[in-house]
Amino acid sequence: MPVTTWKLIGGRLCLDFVNTVGGRVSAGKRRGRDYADTVLRDKLPRYSDLLSWAEAGGALTRRESLQLARRAAADPQAAASVLARAVRFRAALYRIFKSAAGNWTPEPAVMRILQRELSVAGARERLAYAAGAFVRTWDHPTRALDRALWPVARSAAELLASNSLAMVRQCAGDECGWMFLDSSRNHSRQWCDMKDCGNRAKVRRFRQRSVG
Ligand SMILES: [Zn+2]
Repeated sequence: MPVTTWKLIGGRLCLDFVNTVGGRVSAGKRRGRDYADTVLRDKLPRYSDLLSWAEAGGALTRRESLQLARRAAADPQAAASVLARAVRFRAALYRIFKSAAGNWTPEPAVMRILQRELSVAGARERLAYAAGAFVRTWDHPTRALDRALWPVARSAAELLASNSLAMVRQCAGDECGWMFLDSSRNHSRQWCDMKDCGNRAKVRRFRQRSVG
């Protein structure tokens, strides 16, 4: 996918990462936990898609993305295994945020995946001093193929441990299930995008009214 076509509506990098699927369909109205985790279309089928998304979301610069693409071309097997790890991490984050939204205790297995990603990212985290200010940065950002995942892990930890967690919502649209931070003034945002899922719901309500 080209860098410009990614739709970033999550409000946080980690939520936009969770939203790198066409949508998720609920397994039905089971009682208790329902992770609605049937992914409709994976938007990260190739390693280059991960780079493109990371660049769109600001997790990678253009230069970093190009350098990582060259590395991936030189070692496609390593790139494929990073991509598989990214998809596992995405599924884990989805379940953790869904737990948070539903006030459920997150499952230990998915928490372990997050912890692993956090320790990988943490080992790469650096603080640089430049032009009179400290900036958070990464160690050798273009040498590791999993570079795009580090800021995602950091973003997830920051959001999960913040008061904003209570504002994480899931789009109510059919076949959507995207997650976003509801920063609307009265915390009433229902849709990932009013022009998209919100509009479809409006049309459906209108049709139901006309039929009835
Ligand atoms: Zn939606």
